[in-house]
Formats: sequence, structure tokens, C-alpha cells
Amino acid sequence: MGKTKKYVYLFGNKKADGNGAMKALLGGKGANLAEMTRIGLPVPPGFTITTDVCTYYYQNKKSYPRELDSQVRSGVEFIEKILGKKFGDLQKPLLVSVRSGARDSMPGMMDTILNLGLNDQTVRALTRLSNNERFAWDCYRRFVQMYGDVVMGVQKRPGEDHEPFETVIHDLKHERYGADIEDTGLKEGDLEELVARFKALIKERTGYEFPQDPWKQLWGAVGAVFGSWMNDRAIVYRRKYNIPSEWGTAVNVQTMVFGNMGETSATGVAFTRDPASGEKVFYGEYLINAQGEDVVAGVRTPHPIAHLATEMPAAHTALMKVRELLEQHFKDMQDLEFTVEENRLYILQTRNGKRTGHAAVRIAVDMVGEKLISKKDAVRRIPADSLAHLLAPIFDRRSVSQAKKIGSGLAAGPGAASGHVVFSAEEAVARSSKGQKVVLARIETSPEDLRGMIAAEGILTSRGGVSSHAALVARQMGKVCVCGASGIQIDYQKRTLSANGTTLAQGDYISIDGTAGEVFAGEVTTAPSEIIQVLVDRSLDAKKSLTYREYAKLMNWADEFRTLGIRTNADTPEQVANAVAFGAEGIGLCRTEHMFFEGNRIDAMREMILAGSKKERETALKKLLPYQREDFVGIFKALKGLPATIRFLDPPLHEFLPSDHAQQSELANKLGVPVEQISRRVHELHEFNPMLGHRGCRLGISFPEISEMQARAIFEAAAEVQASGIKVRPEIMIPLVGFPRELKLQIDIVRRVADEVAKKKKTKFDYLVGTMIEIPRAALLADEIARDAQFFSFGTNDLTQTTLGMSRDDSGSFLPAYAELDIVDTNPFASIDQRGVGRLMEMTRDLGRKTRPKIKLGICGEHGGEPSSVKFCHGLGLDYVSCSPFRIPIARLAAAQAAIAG
Ligand code: ADP
Ligand code: MG
Ligand code: MG
Repeated sequence: MGKTKKYVYLFGNKKADGNGAMKALLGGKGANLAEMTRIGLPVPPGFTITTDVCTYYYQNKKSYPRELDSQVRSGVEFIEKILGKKFGDLQKPLLVSVRSGARDSMPGMMDTILNLGLNDQTVRALTRLSNNERFAWDCYRRFVQMYGDVVMGVQKRPGEDHEPFETVIHDLKHERYGADIEDTGLKEGDLEELVARFKALIKERTGYEFPQDPWKQLWGAVGAVFGSWMNDRAIVYRRKYNIPSEWGTAVNVQTMVFGNMGETSATGVAFTRDPASGEKVFYGEYLINAQGEDVVAGVRTPHPIAHLATEMPAAHTALMKVRELLEQHFKDMQDLEFTVEENRLYILQTRNGKRTGHAAVRIAVDMVGEKLISKKDAVRRIPADSLAHLLAPIFDRRSVSQAKKIGSGLAAGPGAASGHVVFSAEEAVARSSKGQKVVLARIETSPEDLRGMIAAEGILTSRGGVSSHAALVARQMGKVCVCGASGIQIDYQKRTLSANGTTLAQGDYISIDGTAGEVFAGEVTTAPSEIIQVLVDRSLDAKKSLTYREYAKLMNWADEFRTLGIRTNADTPEQVANAVAFGAEGIGLCRTEHMFFEGNRIDAMREMILAGSKKERETALKKLLPYQREDFVGIFKALKGLPATIRFLDPPLHEFLPSDHAQQSELANKLGVPVEQISRRVHELHEFNPMLGHRGCRLGISFPEISEMQARAIFEAAAEVQASGIKVRPEIMIPLVGFPRELKLQIDIVRRVADEVAKKKKTKFDYLVGTMIEIPRAALLADEIARDAQFFSFGTNDLTQTTLGMSRDDSGSFLPAYAELDIVDTNPFASIDQRGVGRLMEMTRDLGRKTRPKIKLGICGEHGGEPSSVKFCHGLGLDYVSCSPFRIPIARLAAAQAAIAG
């Protein structure tokens, strides 16, 4: 009494026990069936068996709670009363569907059975009632087929190519018609014969008869739906989408409505707006005289929904009303299923529709305009990552469908690129300077390829993961990139690329889709994203681009909510200008080493590295100073008063050196020294583990004159730009500090040079000095380090490598297994390891603030542009995150979402 647990929730006649908020208990489908019933939509009545029963089922050796039987009986009686039909009745039989439905939709993963309640007797009643013998036998044969497959397990055996029921249908068609006619061409006699053959097949395969008792059928189907929660497909899907297996599925038992009653009946699916573009048009398709899965199964070609207006005007009008009502009520784009039975419309399912990044933005922004949702809702709703799609160049859709796919790899840089394939950076530069579009294909890339990568439209590698050099650079530059396309062989000698039986020679056309990770032979036409055309290329008027205007609105709203600052990782004036256009509020990481690769600077750099004495080194450094100063002048000007965190030289020196003999002798010629001297020095500089070797501030400690030159370049540039009336705010950052004294020694140099330059130029500098936190010792001693450091910037790339003791570039060989075995939830190089690295960050913040309460805190690792890491940084109370220019919109949105979530 009152104590009995409720396992069955009814819906029908505009009333429902449940509602849309009860997705955990009723599943997504069940909760929304209840909600739609409540708001008066034409939903066939039924009931939902809760997910609690699923949990019980698996905890109790696949049995049900005692109360369930009577509750299900009352549920069936409830439907019977509404319809005036009876389950198993020989006059007016009630037929139902038994549908799975988890909390989150798992499309196609679990099973649904239609037309349940039919047997050798009730099929005759259905014939009389519908006055349509063909229809009745069509329903029965579908039911026996689905039941035999899903409940009784009559499926393809290993080695068989076709589903056994399909084979039976195929054979009958050929026996009787001598051809593969359409299902709709089968007559009542054919369908009756199919039922007989299906039953025989079931008996032969399972040893059991197809059950005639509707109640037995019902319990069999309910058991099969619960059982499907643990089928392989469902388990794999849940793992991929992080759905806990404890959730379980609900079971919905619902009155059948029939889209297969003839030419006035139909079944279809629709989206209330276009899920690809987001445009406010009704979007979908339907089939006349068909049932359930026929639409998706692709046996017949469905009609676009617009045709419904002429084919079934009454149903179309009703459907347009439903569309309006659903959006008004659910306040989001809906994906719905409907059936028309003899011109009457029924709604069988609705849920928030999945959509592309473009559609997500357009729909949310439009809905704010329509006053359906608030700005806050719009900002909250759009997955921050989906903005990457908006910025990516696009392949022309028609062109793709005609292209020849030759391979695939990791989708490392979203977008589309097409051009002549080249296999070296020099070739890329040479051809692009002649105005050719090129795609650079390399086995792997290294910093030496940078110029080629800049020149190329897209980058393709056959080796390396999402955090490989190619992928990293591609993201920073917003370049299209497919990496690790292991099925593609690149031969540098022959200058060919071969895959899948196709061989491309240098100069042949190739196209890569970095959003899907696909590679095509030949040319596929592309265009830059409209947002880039407006902001970066300035080739498109903002007023003329709807995509841009909607993006800009969204970004403005995001900035209203956001409290976290957004900076950029940028090394050139051009990158800075792009980043500022995207909304960057300063530079969070300017890597000075990239500056030494351009033009003949690399020669001076190499001369400096190869110098045998301090004096020789100083001579070479003097050559570098003007280049460096000029770079900073450009950057400070582009910043227009915004702050710039500039990192001193960081990578191991050998990265700058020529590795092969040809390059070494070329350099020897240029410098006028014997080649042996060069190769000896390269050999000396070789390190066993460069990542943990002579790099970072260790360079500045061994060669203080390098730090001195860099400081001088910065302050001389600052003096020059300040003199022109532009404010300059350098924040000089010392990399790889672990010992407080390392930092102290470097800062002493910076301050001394700043004073010297200030005095000489008769000016003052507004600057900070600080350090990266990228090795655990710095985190552990953050209180001591904060005595000298005015800011900390978390270099989470190295901090992750050093905290986990894992080399990022080598992690590809074991991390996938770690994810598979649930040792890690996500790739720690993509998303901050919050429990480990995050803990160090927290500690650093607390220790740092103990010494210096207002210490400025930021992050400049790649994580700074990854939404869940941005949210974590907001929670930590950092002042800013810094990321590559093209990820700034994503970081802005993620930061706003974090602020809204509180
Ligand atoms: P899925 O979750 O795989 O979409 P569904 O339970 O939604 O499975 O059902 C599969 C198909 O059967 C859908 O097209 C649905 O509209 C249809 N269907 C389900 N129940 C009924 C019913 N009571 N009457 C008519 N068609 C139904
Ligand atoms: Mg469905
Ligand atoms: Mg580092």
C-alpha cells in the first residue's frame, strides 16, 4: 500500500505519470513521450517500464521485481480502455510496439519490435478491421521477422553473407516473380507464405516455435530490450561516448499506429531546422505506405518533406503545427519521428537534434532573436569545440562526392585543402612563390619544415599523432592537416605518394579534409570560411556574411559573461594581428626560437651555436640582434598596447643545426670553415634525451650572452615603439626553471639590460619578469620562486610530460591502450590531467600567492585552447589562458560557459 515501488509510468489521453525532466528514470524517449502527451500532441498511448527495472534485472540474474507483472497488466488495461481494443482479442486486437530508450539516445544500438500481439488468429481480425488483407499480413510478416531476429536470435551466422530472413524473402521473390521486386510488390498470398516460411526457419534454427500467446510475446520482447543494453554494439558505443553502463535502458510499450495502411499512410523523420546549416526550414523525409525502419533502412528512396504538402496536405498542416509547438515547448531544434495512418498524424518520438558546428551557432543565435531562449542559454548550449568547424575552409560538397578517396588519418587541423602534392619544404616554398597551391606531404615534419608548412595549403603526414609537430603547427597556424595516415607510403627519393593502388607524383593534385581526416586524389574545390574572409583576409564585408554576423553576436555575448582573460600564442606580427582580430587580449606565449629559422637568420644562429669561444659567440649574436629587435618592433606595433609574454630561447641547440652531410658542407662553405669542424660540433651537441637536456634556461645559464642579446632586442624594440606613441608591455618569461637561483640569475641580466637601455634611450619601461612552471620542482618551490617571479605561466605541455614522466611524441604507442583500459579518461596532452597535473597547478597557485598575493597566473600550454581545460583554469582562478590564434573563439566561449556554470 503506497509502499509498492512504481515501475510503470503511463501516458495517454493528454495525461502522463512522467514528464520530460525524468530522463534518468524513463529514458529520453519515454520522458519525451510523456511530455508530448502532456502538451496535447497526438502520441499513441502507452507506458514506460523504468530504468530501475533494468538495473534490477542485471543485479538479480535477469529476473524482474515481483510488482512488475501486475503493473504491466494495469498498463495494458490502461491502453485497452483508451482504445476500446484488447490485447490478444479475436475481434479487436490491440497491437503494440516494444521500444528501447536510454537516457541519452544511442541511435540504432538497441532493439525495437513492432506489431506485437499478432498471431495466426489476430491477423485475421486485423484483416477484417482494416478491410485490408495485404496490410494485415505485411504487419504479421514484419513482426515474425523482427521477433525471430531480436528475441529468438535468428541472425546471420559466421560465414553467412545475408540475414537468413532476407534470404527467405529473396528466394520467394525469385521463385514467384523471377526478380528482385520491391517489398511493396508482394501480394497478401506472398506475405502469408513468408510468415509460414519464417516460422519454419525459427523452428529449424532455435528448436522453438514462434510464440502465439501475446503475453508471452510481450515478456519476450521486454527481456530482449533489457538484454540489448549489454549487447556488444551497445557496450562499444557507451565506451566511446562515456555513457555509464549503470544508467540502463527503459522499455516503452506503445500502441501501434500504421504507416503501411496504403496510399493515405506514411512514416517519416524530420528536424525542425536544418541540422547541417541551421537554417529555419523544416527538414526531413518520409515514405508512403511504409513502417518504422523502412525510412532509414534505405530499401526505398524517401521523399523530401516538402512533398508532403502536396501528397498529404492535411497531415502536412498538422505536422507544421507540431513543429512549431515542439520548438516553443522544448526551446531547441527537435529531431522527430512521425507516422500518418489514413491521413491522421501521430508523433512517436522527439529529442534535441544533433547538429554541425555551423548549425549549432545559427540555431542558438536565431533562437535568441526569436525570444525562444536567452543569451545565456545560447552561450551555454553551443559546444565550444564546434566553433572550429566555423573557421575551417570548406570543400565544395558536390566536388567531394565525385572525388577518389585514397586514405585516411587523424583529423588534426580542421578544414579542407587542395593543391599540388610536394614532398619537401623547399619545393613547397618554390611552388607557392610562383602562385601554386600546394599540399606538403611528409613522413613526419620537423621545425626545419616550417617555411614549407607556412607556404602549403595543407599538411599530410604518414606518421605521428594529434600532438605531433605537424598537428601542433597546423593548429597554431589554423592549417588544414591530416596526420598519421599510415596507409599512405611516401617515397622521398622517387617523390611519390602511393596508397590504395593509386600513385601520385610530385605536382599531381591531392585534396585533404582535416575535419574528417580523409585524403583524396585529384582536386576538390575549396573556399575559406567566411569568418576568416571577414576577420583575417578582410576580403568579405561583414554585412554580407550571415555566418560572420551570427558568430560575432555569439562572441559578444560570450564576452559579457566571461571573466577569464584570453591571450594568444603567437610569434609573428601577422599571427598577432589575426589573434587580435579573433579577440586576443595580449600574447601569452611568444616563442623566440621560431624567429631564427627565417631567411638567412638561421646562418647567424648556426654561427652562434658553432662558436668556439665567448667572443665568437658575441660576434654572431650581434648579427642576430637587429633581426630579433625588428621582430619585436613588429609584434609590439601589432599589439597596440596589449601585453606580450616573451619566452627566452628554449629548445635544445642541435635543433637548429644541419643534420645531413650536404647541409653541413653548405654551411661550412658559407662560414669558411672545414666541414669536419661542423660535423664535430654537431656531434658534440648530440644529446641522449634532448627533452631533458641542455635547453630552456639552462642555455641562458651556460651562455648568458644569449639572454642578454634577447633582453636587449626586447627593450630596444620597446623603446622604439614607445617613442612612436604606442604603449608596450613586455612580460619576459624564463623557461624550464626548477631552481630559484636559476631564475634569479636570468632576471638579474634582464633588469640590468633594461636599466642600461632605459638610460641610453632616456625612457622608462613598464615590464614584468616571470617564469614558466613546467617542471614539478618549480611547482614544489613556487613560494621561493615567487620571490623573484612577478608571474607564473603554466607550460602544461612540458609540465604534463615531466609530471607523468611521459614523452608526448612517444605516447602514441601506449596511450590508446591506456584509454581502452580506462587508465586515463582522455589524452593528458590534449586535456589537462586535472587530478595529477591539476593538483600541482593548484599547489603552485597557493604557494605563489603566499609569497606574492597578487601574482599573475596564466597558462600557455596547448591546453589553453581546449574547452574542458579552459573550464578547469577558470576554476583555478587563473588570470588568463593563452592559445593559438585560431582557437581563441573556442577559448572565449569555453571561458564564458565556465563563468555561467559558476
Ligand atoms: P530507435 O530508437 O532505433 O529509433 P524506435 O523505438 O524509435 O527505435 O523505433 C524504430 C522505428 O519504429 C521508428 O521509426 C519508430 O517511429 C517506429 N515505431 C516505434 N513505435 C511505433 C508505434 N507504436 N507505431 C508506429 N511506429 C512505431
Ligand atoms: Mg527512434
Ligand atoms: Mg616547455
